[in-house]
Amino acid sequence: MSDLHLPAGLNYGCIQCGLSCKMFNEVSVEQASRARIEEIDYRALMHPDTRELSFLVKSPSTGEKDVLRRHCGTCVFQREDGLCGIHHAHGFPQKPQTCQDFPYRYAETPAGAYIGLSFACTAVLQNAGPAVSEQRDYLAQNRQRANAVLNFRGAVRLTHRHEISWEAYQLLEEDLHHILNGVGEPLEQRLIAQTVYIDLYAAFLREMRGDSIHRVNRPMPQDFGASGRFPADSGPATDEKALHATRRKYIERDGGAELFRIARKMKGSGGLQRAFIGLITAFRQSLDYKGKRPGRIATTTKIMRHYMTHALKIGNVKLDPLGEPFDYEAFTRIPFDLQPGSPEDELLQRFLDHSLFRKDLLAVESVWLGQRLVLMYVALIRWHAIGKAALLGRPRVDIECLREAIRIVELHYLTHTKIVTLFDKIPSLGMILDALVRKPAFAPSMMEKQL
Ligand code: SF4
Repeated sequence: MSDLHLPAGLNYGCIQCGLSCKMFNEVSVEQASRARIEEIDYRALMHPDTRELSFLVKSPSTGEKDVLRRHCGTCVFQREDGLCGIHHAHGFPQKPQTCQDFPYRYAETPAGAYIGLSFACTAVLQNAGPAVSEQRDYLAQNRQRANAVLNFRGAVRLTHRHEISWEAYQLLEEDLHHILNGVGEPLEQRLIAQTVYIDLYAAFLREMRGDSIHRVNRPMPQDFGASGRFPADSGPATDEKALHATRRKYIERDGGAELFRIARKMKGSGGLQRAFIGLITAFRQSLDYKGKRPGRIATTTKIMRHYMTHALKIGNVKLDPLGEPFDYEAFTRIPFDLQPGSPEDELLQRFLDHSLFRKDLLAVESVWLGQRLVLMYVALIRWHAIGKAALLGRPRVDIECLREAIRIVELHYLTHTKIVTLFDKIPSLGMILDALVRKPAFAPSMMEKQL
């Protein structure tokens, strides 16, 4: 069990809010879960309109595996009050495995399993219940049977061209934690400093591996075989040495003063943030259609129109999960200055720290991209928190608004949500997004408060 890593300082105990069901479009039901449901009087727990039907259907997406039947947009076992009928009548262990797995997220790595939590969960957002570290025995058992396990045992890609060893990644993650928890700098500057640090490390690595346009006879990725990337052991120095060199120069030598000096020099643009977040929210909202599924051209046109209206600041801001639109003035009127040590500051810091712990940076093409997406998530959290406060008529972002914003971002925008399906369907949208993320002004723009 020593290879089981649990988050420190996080508590979780299910308070049965019924939200877990919203996390899954399809709840797969393997043989053991099916047998557990069949041993209870499950028909009494199903929606009355469906009691004559099987509780299982073939997956609409794959047509193969068995999934729970849905009725009027929810699982047939979900009660009117939103709670799970099986959990309510027979207890947590009787539920399908997928439902038991929520809100835990299992990530297998060369250093063992990291057990993370979803911040879409009400109990996690409130840090309610016993410490996760006290649930080691249960988690060790559930890890063996969990349906959704992320596998990060392969090579770690620092950038799309460079692989690094797991050991180097762990050192980098330590440094990113260190920068994130640095005192005396606003959160926005700490996140930009993380971006700068990854860029500096990548530059050091490129230089040490000879991946430079100034070198004659330099090795190129095609020399390294089918992967087309510089593997972890290429170049005259190892990636760990490059990381230690970066750490010495930008963290240890002057306590990070130079790193933050570079971060502060980076200038962003509120216009770029508006256009970019407008694009992302339009992506996501295009997935929630009523009636006939819109075609590719209609979807692209709608997204581009949305992008332009945000870029030009026309009309109001519409973020579908919040319901009503709100005015752009809200970004000026309602401050998002989380006071150090306040409950709001503690919650956002806990979420960001935990994102690193649960290995969110490894869930996309490269660590470089993963960290930039974190900046996008923070911008989205800010938009939704301010929107929520505006709609509730509150003068500032309080803990309730922030919890709702983090929940929405976990449910709708992270890489484990259905937003990724859109990039598979319309690759050109992914290319537009990629071009925007690569702009040097991207990081400071995501942290810009003047919109
Ligand atoms: S079985 Fe229960 S927890 Fe699982 S999706 Fe259905 S209602 Fe939700």
